[in-house]
Formats: sequence, structure tokens, C-alpha cells
Amino acid sequence: MDQTLEERIADLERELVERTAQERRTAARFHDIIDRNADAFVIVDREGRIRFANRAAAQLFGRDADALLGMPFGFPVTAGETSEVDIPHNSAPRVAEMRVDSTEWEGAPAYVASLRDITERRRMEQVSRSLFAEQAAREVAEQANRRLHFLLETTTVLTSSLDYRDKPRLLARICVDHLCDWAVVYGLDRDGEPRRLAVEHCEPSKAPLAEELRSIPIDPRGIHPILEVIRSRQSRLVTDITPEMLTAMSANPREVEIARELGVASFMSVPVVARDRVLGAIAFVAARSENAFDTSDLKLAEDVARRAALALDNALLHEQAQLANQRKADFLAVVSHDLRTPLNAILGYADLMDLGVPEPISPGARDRVQRIRSAAKHLLYLLNELLAFARLEASHEVPHMQNVDVGALMKEVAAVAEPLAGKKGLQFVVELPDEPITLSTDPDKLRQILLNLVGNAVKYTPQGEVRVSVSRSSTGMVRFVVSDTGIGIAKEHLAKVFEPFWQVRQTERSAGGGTGLGLSVVRHLAGMLGGTVSVKSKVGVGSTFTVSFGA
Ligand code: ADP
Repeated sequence: MDQTLEERIADLERELVERTAQERRTAARFHDIIDRNADAFVIVDREGRIRFANRAAAQLFGRDADALLGMPFGFPVTAGETSEVDIPHNSAPRVAEMRVDSTEWEGAPAYVASLRDITERRRMEQVSRSLFAEQAAREVAEQANRRLHFLLETTTVLTSSLDYRDKPRLLARICVDHLCDWAVVYGLDRDGEPRRLAVEHCEPSKAPLAEELRSIPIDPRGIHPILEVIRSRQSRLVTDITPEMLTAMSANPREVEIARELGVASFMSVPVVARDRVLGAIAFVAARSENAFDTSDLKLAEDVARRAALALDNALLHEQAQLANQRKADFLAVVSHDLRTPLNAILGYADLMDLGVPEPISPGARDRVQRIRSAAKHLLYLLNELLAFARLEASHEVPHMQNVDVGALMKEVAAVAEPLAGKKGLQFVVELPDEPITLSTDPDKLRQILLNLVGNAVKYTPQGEVRVSVSRSSTGMVRFVVSDTGIGIAKEHLAKVFEPFWQVRQTERSAGGGTGLGLSVVRHLAGMLGGTVSVKSKVGVGSTFTVSFGA
């Protein structure tokens, strides 16, 4: 059925109204969607002014959406670009990621900038960055601390005693505890050729293998890498060892086999040098590649080797000094002992001649014989002192402890010393305790201590008195005191009088006096019996020596 023209026009008008309404609804819905979007949208015209801003944009800029309209946008806009922009905001500046695209606005070309607030994301990133930096710093500090601890321990452990023998093993152990999976400490023998002194592994089950490796000699003309380290005095770091390299390191298949079983992924070898002398080397081995060494490990290893060198050198020097001392003491003991035998014969025959055996001698000759006797006696005294000293130095003496009545022992000493004091016109005073005092000690050694002290007191006292006493304090301490009114000892000499061969008047020895050994023997013996000796003295007034034994 044909429509009339009026009807057709009316339909079109209706349709137009309907479509316009629909378009308006669509535009409103679109507007609403844009407005509710979580991202901020801003339409910017070609002049850079804001023509539209949604709710999120208003929030992002901290203003009403209406207030933004017409304002300059403030950021350069280039279609297709994404950038990060800092947006001033009343409370706190915001950071947004901005994407710009071309659009049209009200029939004119424009830009749409979509902005996503990434302030929080940036803040979190910043926080995690600083946390990360903090953690890294803490790790560095902890590592430095561990290293310092390692170095300190190296020094403490290695210098705790002067005994050289256990040092290589201790050193290898510390290295394993702190830096590597296993370690080898090398020393040089008399011919300067290296040998393994200690091999330590972190796994106790590997100890037998480590010990076997230790006992394998190193061929000095071979290809072992330690030879080059010792020869060149240069450290070596190998971060990654291939099986071929390992095989090439030794001509001994068993050595290579053991090394493989102990695990070799990376190693460092550092020479141990003290006073410009190579003492040996240390090899640090990492069994697994994840523990491979780097240059900072090598620095630490070199530090350890430097400290070890000092400690080992001291211990070696001490050992050599001990050995030399021992030889000297042995020599002295042999010589003084052997000299005593003919001397006793001289004394014996001189005594016989003095007694007129086999026939009386003239008074003149007798005077000469007397002189021979007293010179020989003095010589015997000197030899006895030397022998006592030498025996102590050579550590041949051991105390034989027993319960001793010290009052009775004091009387014995007084009986020997009194006539000597009497000869010099000195008063000799003995102070004994009312109650008997018993001390667990070696009576022969204690007697020798007291005889030496009383002998000195008489020797160095021209006039006055020599006094000896023994007492027990309330704490149970037993004290022997030997005092005199003699020449005394100057303050600056007090510490030296106990040193062997030291005498205040160094001419004393050549003048036929003592040996300078008596007080050294006294101190040695007192120490052996668990006691101490001290001295107080004033020049021209006198000296007091005190020997104390704990309860
Ligand atoms: P010496 O054989 O010379 O007596 P000592 O070791 O017994 O050796 O004593 C060392 C030095 O100490 C002596 O040479 C002397 O100078 C000094 N001395 C020791 N005892 C006394 C004392 N009672 N009075 C003064 N000087 C003393």
C-alpha cells in the first residue's frame, strides 16, 4: 500500500527524532562510561587547553572537572606517545603514565590523554628498591663481618701458642670453616721442596682420603701447580677447573683420583711468605662450582696467608730457639758434669796432702795446697751452679713432691749458712713458726732455692745481719723470707737479677765471684714447685727475697 507524501514525511520526522534521541542517549552513556572510568581522560585542543576531563582526571589533578575546563593542560602532547608525568596536587604530587592519541572534539582535531595514576606503584617500587639496597648493604656488612671474623680467628688460633707442630692443621681447619670445602697447607723441607703438612675437608667422611693425599709426596720436578706458586711467590686463582686440567696437574694418577673424590671445581693457591722467605703455601679448594672463588676471595685468602706467615714464622723461630737452647743446655750439662770428675780428684788429693798423706808437707807447701783446695772448691761450686742451671734448661728435672716439714728444712739450710755468715761476722737470725708447717713440695729443690738465696744474702752483705723466716698466712700461703742488710740492688736492676748470667757488677765473674745463675735457678725451681719469687731492695740498706707457695 502506497504511503501518502505527508505520511512519508511524518515517518521520516519520527525516525529522525527517534534517532537523535538514541544518539543523545548513546552519547550520554558514552560520556557516563568515560566519566566512570578508573583512568583519567582529558581532551586537549590544539591550543593545549583542556576541553574535557572525566571524574578520575579531576581527582588526579585535585580539582573539580568544571574548574579544569579551559585551563592549559601543561604537558606536551604528541599523538602516539607514552610518557610519565609529575602532576602537582594539593596534598601530595602524583605520578601518572600518560598515553596520547589524536581525536576530534566538537568537530575540531584534538588530543585525548589517558592518564593512569602510578604514584602508588612508583612508591612501592621505591620502597622495594630501598629494601633491596638495604638488604644488599646488610649482606655486604655481614660478609665483611664474616671475613673480619675469619681473619681474627686466624690470628687468634695461630698465635694462641708458639708450638709449631699443630699450626698447619689448625690453619687448614680455619680455612675450611670459613672459606673453602677443603684446604691444603704446604711447608718446605730442608731442601726447599714442598710437601703437604695438612689436608682438611669439610666433610668428616673424607678425612681418610684427605690423610692419604697428605702422605703423597710432591714431585719437585713435576707439574703440580703449587711448585709454580712457591717459585714465583704469586697467588693463583682458577675459577673453573675442567677434568682435563685436573689430570694435567699431576703425573700421579692416585693423587688426581683423590682430588676428584674430594671435589675440585675451583681453587686458589697463595704463597706463605715471612721476612722475605717462602715458608710454604695454602691451597683453598671449592668442591662445587656454585662455591667457585672470585677475586675478592683471593684477596681474603692472601690476607689469611699473610697472617698465617707471621704466626708460622714466630712458631718456627721459637722452635729453632728452643732447639738451640736445648743443645746449649745439653752441652753445658755434659761439660760441667765431666769437669766435676777430675776436679773431685784434685780436691781429694789436695785434702790428702793437707792431712799429710802419704807424708807430711812443709808449712809453705801446705799453704799452697790450701789455696789449691779453696780454688778447686770454688770451681766445684761454679760447676754445680752451671750443672743445676743446665739441667733445668734442658728440662731434665722433674719435681718429686712429698709432704715436707718446712721448719725442719729451714734448720738444715741454717746449719749450712750460719758458719759462712759467722766467718764474715754477720748475725744470722732464723725465725721458725710455733706450729709445724707442712708443705707438699720437692725438698731437694726447695733446699736448693733457700741455699741460693741465703748464700747470696751472706755474699752481698758486708756487715749487719741475714735473717730467714718461714710462716703460713691466714689464707694458707707458705712464705719463705730471706732478708739482709747488705749492699742492696738498684731499682733498675731488680727485674734483671733473675736473668741467667746477669750480675749487677759484671766484673763479678772475672773477679772469681758467682756465675749469675743462682737467682735464675731459684726462679725456675720455684716455678716448677708452683711458687713465685719476688724481691724488694734498697741500695745500701739491704734486700728481701720472698718465695711464696699457694695453699
Ligand atoms: P751470682 O752468682 O752473681 O750471685 P745470682 O743469679 O745469684 O748470681 O744473682 C745475680 C745478681 O744479683 C748478683 O750478681 C748480684 O749482683 C745480685 N744479687 C743477688 N742477691 C743479692 C743480694 N742479696 N744483695 C745484693 N745483690 C744481690
